[in-house]
Amino acid sequence: MHRDVNIVKVDPTLKNETPYWIIIAAGGTEKGRVATFKYIDSSKLLTKKEKAELKEFVKKLWKKYPVKVIKNGRVTLITMSSKAKIDLTKDEEAMLKKIAQAVNEYFRTRYGGEVGILWNADTHQDIIYISCKKWGVNDTYAKIAKDAADDPDQWPHLPSDHYYNPDTGMGSAPYYCWYYAIGAKSYYELKQYSKAFQGLGWSSHFLTDVGNPLHTGRELDQVLNSWVHYAYENYVSSNWNSGYNFKSVVSGNNYYYSIDDPWDATVNLAKYSHQYVDTLYLKIYNNPDTFKTDKTVKEITENCLLETSKWTLGLVKYVIGG
Ligand SMILES: [Zn+2]
Repeated sequence: MHRDVNIVKVDPTLKNETPYWIIIAAGGTEKGRVATFKYIDSSKLLTKKEKAELKEFVKKLWKKYPVKVIKNGRVTLITMSSKAKIDLTKDEEAMLKKIAQAVNEYFRTRYGGEVGILWNADTHQDIIYISCKKWGVNDTYAKIAKDAADDPDQWPHLPSDHYYNPDTGMGSAPYYCWYYAIGAKSYYELKQYSKAFQGLGWSSHFLTDVGNPLHTGRELDQVLNSWVHYAYENYVSSNWNSGYNFKSVVSGNNYYYSIDDPWDATVNLAKYSHQYVDTLYLKIYNNPDTFKTDKTVKEITENCLLETSKWTLGLVKYVIGG
């Protein structure tokens, strides 16, 4: 069931000014300031002197570029409080980079492992497998789609192949979803079912990718991106079959969206999950040790998985017709 979630939006003019916007935005709340200091203090790579300098620096930066936090019902807007344009010097950029590295270090040492491109393999595979079974696809073919669903993350690719930002139109996920879906549909009509379900699995990968809010924002190009993925992927996969049991959101859904064009379907799903990208990003940044028990993070994840399930059911129907 879709739940209304309190949303945080960061003013795009702030986000567009610097890839380090989150550190500036963090200055707007006590939690954000505490978290930033914690990242700096926890680093094993920075010297004592560097830590002191970075904390002095970031305090000054928050004064130089103060942000306002405006609450309006369920939406909280973080915006610059002065009209002053952000114009970072080379030195400031260098200092911000060091803070970003400390943030990355913090999450890397806690969540380890290789950072994936998106949802982990299980998420992609389970969503398409469950969706095929719901339409009565026989197990052999459902398994072919399942086996194919994680393949695209092994292919040589640009990260932008696996995302789509509805604000800028950047990212190729809609194209790849469409391309493999129309191929799969033709194979299905020719009764070449193995190829059809392999294509469906590949196509579904690019659709489900953008069901993850972190694959719909500018963050993908940014220095701080990798740690969000470590932390968020770890969270989703450790709650997939147990804990919050996110997989049950997918198995419990029986609604689907009718798809005429898989390209548009991917754009629509990206628009849905994109509404949560700032909220999710700031929740993790501001609450590095407690975001995993945060109600909003859980509800965002469930909402996005539910929406992803509806579109994926539509995609199966698109390919097999009927
Ligand atoms: Zn991917």
